[in-house]
Amino acid sequence: MKHLNNGRALTLVLVAVLLGVLCYYITPSFRGIKLFKENDIRQENRLDADVIHVSREFHLVAPDHLQYKQPSIVHGSRTDVVTVTPWLAPVVWEGTFNPVLLDSIYNKKNVSITATVFAVGKYIMFLKNFLETAEQHFFIGFKVHICVFTDRPDEVPQVRMATGRQLTVRSVPSSKRWQEISARRMELIQSLIEEQLPNDSGYIFCLDVDSKFHGRWGTESLGGLVAVIHPGYYRDDRSKFPYERSPESRAYVAPGEGDFYYCGGAFGGLLQEVHQLAKTCRSNFESDAKEGIEAAWQEESHLNRYMWINKPSKVLSPEYLWQDFKPKNPEVHIIRFSGVIKNYAEIRPNA
Ligand code: UDP
Ligand code: MN
Repeated sequence: MKHLNNGRALTLVLVAVLLGVLCYYITPSFRGIKLFKENDIRQENRLDADVIHVSREFHLVAPDHLQYKQPSIVHGSRTDVVTVTPWLAPVVWEGTFNPVLLDSIYNKKNVSITATVFAVGKYIMFLKNFLETAEQHFFIGFKVHICVFTDRPDEVPQVRMATGRQLTVRSVPSSKRWQEISARRMELIQSLIEEQLPNDSGYIFCLDVDSKFHGRWGTESLGGLVAVIHPGYYRDDRSKFPYERSPESRAYVAPGEGDFYYCGGAFGGLLQEVHQLAKTCRSNFESDAKEGIEAAWQEESHLNRYMWINKPSKVLSPEYLWQDFKPKNPEVHIIRFSGVIKNYAEIRPNA
């Protein structure tokens, strides 16, 4: 009996040792941290609190000795607007962030940002202004890749781009219906990310071409899933939001539901997150189409449905997509990006 017990104890010890060895080999991240610390000590003979890289997005490493204004925990720099959602995502307004601090943090991370922009048919006329102003305001000093989708590759304007910034052009078919152009964006964004994903872990923003940058749009906008508040409805009750109201559609948002009304003209985040969004919206859009349903505002409706369930981790204020025809409201201290005034009858392929 005693002999048996000893045997069992030995087996238990052996199993424990084996499990330990196994854990050591299947958790390279732990070993990575350990090695990193050892190297660091050897090099500098001291260990800062900032060496453990847990996650790309959430671990924000600031450079030491950066001088900036002391942040207050009792007096908000903006008291006229809401700067956090009920699910605790920041809402980005001018005055809520320190651009120098954020840029230093993201410089260390060596991030890259892709921007997609569609210029199909006559919308090619907006591209020059879009690209030129992006060169002045969009992620200055960072690695930027602007991806233009167009049916008129020969008409893409030559715009001088700074070092570290590049433009690529992808051909897409022309279309007779603007609804179709706008809807196919999700499909093309999905395939672009699928091509890039294995080599790229950066961020992406999907932007309307009929718009211009007027002010900084930078690292403060980075997040997992990023949505922009539509400038047209942000002071309204949710009952006035132009969500898809027919329960047959997969973009349906029921009365009494919905947080904010977000723009279809600007959204973004980590490639993985935007891939999930584009894939879902595309699939729902296509299933609707098979049943002869087209949501009120096409992919914008599907995007709003998606964001109701999948809450954005960062919300950008209407500073990030204003409309040129709209006078500036007092809470908008800076317009960063804005839709230009256009004559729909002149530029769209159908009414
Ligand atoms: N678009 C395009 N060609 C068209 C219609 C739309 O390239 O004929 C693209 C373009 O990028 C545009 C976006 O789809 O910015 C959304 O369409 P639009 O700007 O007309 O929608 P709105 O902002 O007026 O709701
Ligand atoms: Mn637009």
